[in-house]
Amino acid sequence: MSYIEEVRASVNARDAGQPEFLQAVDEVLSTIRPVVESDDAYRRNAVLERITEPDRQIIFRVPWMDDKGVMRVNRGFRVQFNNAIGPYKGGLRLHPSVNLSIIKFLGFEQIFKNSLTGLPIGGGKGGSDFDPKGKSDNEIRSFCQSFMTELARHIGADTDVPAGDIGVGAREIGFMYGQYKRLKNVYEGVLTGKGLTYGGSLARTEATGYGLVYIVENMLEAAGDSVNGKTIAISGSGNVAIYAAQKATSLGAKVVTMSDSSGWIYDPKGIDLDVVRDIKEVKRGRIKEYADRVKSAEYHVTDPDKNTPKVWSVKCDIALPCATQNELDENDAKLLIKNKVTAVGEGANMPSTTAAIEAFQKAGVLFMPAKAANAGGVAVSALEMSQNSQRLAWTFNEVDERLKGIMKGIFDKTAEAAAKYAKPGDYVSGANIAGFLKVAAAMIAQGV
Ligand code: NDP
Repeated sequence: MSYIEEVRASVNARDAGQPEFLQAVDEVLSTIRPVVESDDAYRRNAVLERITEPDRQIIFRVPWMDDKGVMRVNRGFRVQFNNAIGPYKGGLRLHPSVNLSIIKFLGFEQIFKNSLTGLPIGGGKGGSDFDPKGKSDNEIRSFCQSFMTELARHIGADTDVPAGDIGVGAREIGFMYGQYKRLKNVYEGVLTGKGLTYGGSLARTEATGYGLVYIVENMLEAAGDSVNGKTIAISGSGNVAIYAAQKATSLGAKVVTMSDSSGWIYDPKGIDLDVVRDIKEVKRGRIKEYADRVKSAEYHVTDPDKNTPKVWSVKCDIALPCATQNELDENDAKLLIKNKVTAVGEGANMPSTTAAIEAFQKAGVLFMPAKAANAGGVAVSALEMSQNSQRLAWTFNEVDERLKGIMKGIFDKTAEAAAKYAKPGDYVSGANIAGFLKVAAAMIAQGV
């Protein structure tokens, strides 16, 4: 059995029952073969065994009190996966679906993504099965303070620096940061995505969505095309989706769909982002309200049990899945291909199933995987850490220009690794290989 097969079998046996984690490991292992098999040093140094096993996994109880005075208990997680190239870095997700498998898949992906940015950050991820939907500010604060009371002992500006993810935006980061400071009595950049009045970076809010569009533009340019004039289907209506839509629109594209977990909107005239931002960022409402307010829009309910159509049923040139994992399956891919989609960029983490990716690649659709495509968020988080350490604040344009440069660097590294080790344009292999090479070299240099 080859080294890769041995490790794959061992991870499958040890982590059976963690489907999302196994899916992420499988995708990486199946693409890094040309590199791993070219040098026995990887096996001698147990690089694959070590890179698939987190440094540590912390699971803890999070008790908090709701507005009726009832005590509630959730489960908190922080997986510190790999710090070969820098302090652990990765977001915190608050969603009822959160479990160890999901946090481990996200932490594993983060190792390679962070490496691709070229910045000194390791991989980690955390969160809780707490559902922020429908909770008052008071309940959110109570949860966040309790969550940080335990998390604080495991993190630090040079150890592990969490950020936001699904369900964690500026409000939640603010409550967690306040609690960390109270407990530790230090003012340090222990979280990123902070508010601008207390150490946050300009352009961090926009970074993931903008970065996604920058790298899709790089990918299209390499194929002699551009975002300008294209019709785009986006899923999600959260942080990544909103700023991807904003940047794509400013580059001359027309975004015609957005969604949340209840349903999706189709606006053939192009989505009015002021309305979406008012619904989502100000009123914390549902995307359905868009169709109540904008005459040209249709609303479609999503019923996961009835296999109702998704945003991917709409005709578009570019698809940007920006909601959650496995939201775009093989049937969706086939529908998009039938409707002549030319490019896909993953804003969310692992939004396309393995079969969907294969379908896109087989049909010659340009495909930029999440590790490269959504790395802009963590890259600007790393820039926030630099600003905090320097006790300086850079301008929006300065950060945005650096983000553009970082995304171009990621595209170039990904394209070069694809051409060298797999085949030109295979950005899935390229991103995995380019991310792996740096981390593996650092792991070997530092000894087992
Ligand atoms: P938000 O919480 O801001 O938005 C998430 C959006 O996706 C919401 O519209 C939400 O709808 C929808 N969604 C979430 N879960 C589901 C589900 N199970 N089914 C259908 N829709 C769902 O999160 P972000 O925009 O920050 O994150 C979106 C994705 O991007 C995630 O995969 C995240 O890991 C990834 N990402 C985020 C980064 C960031 O900087 N924020 C960085 C890199 C990756 P609803 O409100 O109904 O739940």
